[in-house]
Amino acid sequence: MHTRSSRWIERSLKSVWHPCTQMQHHETLPLVALKQGKGVWLYDQDRNRYFDAISSWWTNLFGHANPFISKAVKDQLDKLEHGMLAGCTHEPVVELSERLSALTGNALGHCFYASDGASAIEIALKMSFHYWKNSGQPQKQEFVCLENSYHGETIGALSVTDVTLFRDSYAPLIRNSHIVASPDNRQAKDGQTGTDIAREAADKLETLLQEKAGTIAAVIVEPLVQCAAGFVMYSPEYLKRIRELCKHYHVHLIADEIAVGFGRTGTFFACEQAGIWPDFLCLSKGITGGYLPLSAVMTTDTVFNAFYDRDITRGFLHSHSYTGNPLACRAALASLDLFRLHNVISQNRGISKKLDKALDPLKTHPKVRHFRNCGMIWAFDAVMPAEKEVAFPRRFFETALKHELLVRPIGNTVYLMPPYILNDTDIALLADKTKAVFEEVIEE
Ligand SMILES: *Cc1c(COP(=O)(O)O)cnc(C)c1O
Repeated sequence: MHTRSSRWIERSLKSVWHPCTQMQHHETLPLVALKQGKGVWLYDQDRNRYFDAISSWWTNLFGHANPFISKAVKDQLDKLEHGMLAGCTHEPVVELSERLSALTGNALGHCFYASDGASAIEIALKMSFHYWKNSGQPQKQEFVCLENSYHGETIGALSVTDVTLFRDSYAPLIRNSHIVASPDNRQAKDGQTGTDIAREAADKLETLLQEKAGTIAAVIVEPLVQCAAGFVMYSPEYLKRIRELCKHYHVHLIADEIAVGFGRTGTFFACEQAGIWPDFLCLSKGITGGYLPLSAVMTTDTVFNAFYDRDITRGFLHSHSYTGNPLACRAALASLDLFRLHNVISQNRGISKKLDKALDPLKTHPKVRHFRNCGMIWAFDAVMPAEKEVAFPRRFFETALKHELLVRPIGNTVYLMPPYILNDTDIALLADKTKAVFEEVIEE
């Protein structure tokens, strides 16, 4: 039987090349033909609904079709839909820059914009390199990233990404970076704490910096949670240490908060938990509440001033057509308003506690290992025979859809990253569905 969904799916598979996908898998793997979203729910063409437990690739903070953000975007639409940001400026981009700076206590007072996360990474890498060149140290050209780091999939971003699947096929195109130990909490052996692991990992970074800082421009990290790596969580102590090390060895620190910024880890920025600010802060995903593509790189007066000159080649030479798009900036401003109006960071603490408790049955499940939580992120590793691991994420995704749940595990790591608008019913529903899907898949 041909449903409305199935017709859209057929047409999509002919004309749309889907991201990060082996298209042939869709011969058997379902594609969801979305029609509508409202709050935590997504609806397909046949009126089936799915709980968006991963916030549509970690972007959506306040639910789909949020009336407050929608209204702000509609208002802006009738005023200025777009205007170039070279030679021009506009109210939404100025206001957004000022408010983001204020959220860093004005430590990072200059915002450079692009449209997606990977571009923000390209910008931070180029800016760091160019800063050193402008400062008479052109030999500082290398970058350091963590084991299993993920910073995006453009060629520059892949050079600081250590995820085999994304990197290996394109290896000849990619520059190599120094890869240092990840402070992954799961490494802790008897008696060790996350702080011990963090110190050990930071010591390894120091060994590298002692030897190579003269040619290194920057260290790049995902603060507190390495999401795409499979939700590796680590102690803020690591950030504290590497902040000191980077300062001491004259190397920039780039914090990629593309996934963890905007309240995801329990504080507005993850870096706050370590009481530090990086030299470059990369933001995207949640920045517009999941409405429109926008990214930003925030940096210090010191960096900005190294580019401020008569000479055009000492300026930062980078641009994208949609840089600082007013609609996207307006969505971001509305999203920031919601944080303030509803005291979201403190409200999330309550939601986080409740969902964590509702997930108790999974913590003690014999097939669950390393159940972990950081703010509004939950993850656990499923234990299964090795031959089942390849099929697991796809099986889980498929089974979850039948339970009205949208969840896509990474390898054997199941994670939840829901929007910040969960009520008690949503919390119970999400926990029950996750458990039911897990048990069904793991017992197969
Ligand atoms: C998603 C992500 C990126 C890349 O952002 P895109 O908008 O997908 O290009 C970079 N870094 C981190 C930590 C991410 O999670």
